Amino acid sequence: VFHDDDDGDDMIRVIVRKRPFHQDKPSDIDVIHPLEYGCYGKMLVYQPITRVDLTKEISKIPFAYDGVFGEEYNNLQIYNKAVRSLIPVVLEGQHSTVFAFGCTGSGKTHTMMGSNFTGKRIVEEENMGLYYMAAMDVFRSLEEFEYSHLSVGVSLFEIYGGKLFDLLNDRKMVKCLEDHKGCVQFPGLSEHRIEDPGELIELIELGAQSRSTGTTSRNSDSSRSHAVLQLHLRKSVGRKQNVEHGRLTFIDLAGSERGADTANYSRATRLEGAEINTSLLALKEVIRARARGGSMTHVPFRGSKLTQVLKESFVGENSRCLMIACIAPDMESCEQTLNTLRYADRVKER
Ligand code: ADP
Ligand code: MG
Repeated sequence: VFHDDDDGDDMIRVIVRKRPFHQDKPSDIDVIHPLEYGCYGKMLVYQPITRVDLTKEISKIPFAYDGVFGEEYNNLQIYNKAVRSLIPVVLEGQHSTVFAFGCTGSGKTHTMMGSNFTGKRIVEEENMGLYYMAAMDVFRSLEEFEYSHLSVGVSLFEIYGGKLFDLLNDRKMVKCLEDHKGCVQFPGLSEHRIEDPGELIELIELGAQSRSTGTTSRNSDSSRSHAVLQLHLRKSVGRKQNVEHGRLTFIDLAGSERGADTANYSRATRLEGAEINTSLLALKEVIRARARGGSMTHVPFRGSKLTQVLKESFVGENSRCLMIACIAPDMESCEQTLNTLRYADRVKER
């Protein structure tokens, strides 16, 4: 069972979040049903009213996660239960990374960036993006003497078609290079110092405007790129200024359906799909390797741009990682939901 403010001992955690039905479609059939299971966390099965084979298959295989959150949970509750414990890790000088995985429309952007980024006009404080709640906690800590020497810098970019675009600098293309020590560098990526969470919202709004939009997607939003938000905690060490101390990363991954069936699309879209598929598979491999512990020297970071970019976030000995698998409740998304549950289940070997 998932506890509030857990001590966060696990390096990798995987939770599932089911979004509510859209208000204009309340009559849809709910195909997903969380079950509670003792100390294992919870599991999920489809109710036996859905399409044929999927139902049988999924109810036979119990999927286990570190936590399962139904539609009754808002972003603040998700934050308190699963994300908050990552903040001390960053303050202590390590890396924490939060991913939102799932198909388009499953609630990734709502979770990471907040309801104001999914076309909702009214934004309740409790449905601001997880990034915002994290920033609130970070800035609260910086008021304490112990952390008062730290400052916060923000970068925001997207990975699209294997290339990096700076969302806070006119979508300028940015290179990702490894130095002689194997550390990943982003020469030219802009970083913006902020003094409070309000400034972060402004930057995110700016970045959201420059995110690429697709024409073939179900929603014509940014389902085809990974959006990466990084909060860098920096300090001075001797005469060196702005040395990175800790890093908190939020990633709104490309729609997972993008990697699947794209046979009917144009060549460009198919290539995009293949790229996304490769990156999501590589991500799974990297997280699995991390979860197994041991040496990180043979981990296939170069398997994709996404994992190469994230290398630094994984190599730290005490780095933490949270995968939020987002799912929709409706019948139409059934197959994608199963794919997401399977992916999330396999990310963490038990
Ligand atoms: P994705 O980024 O995975 O494509 P979105 O976050 O854009 O999905 O969510 C799709 C729609 O569902 C949006 O209109 C969003 O506001 C709504 N939605 C998603 N998750 C929730 C939630 N937990 N509560 C209320 N509405 C949600
Ligand atoms: Mg989205």
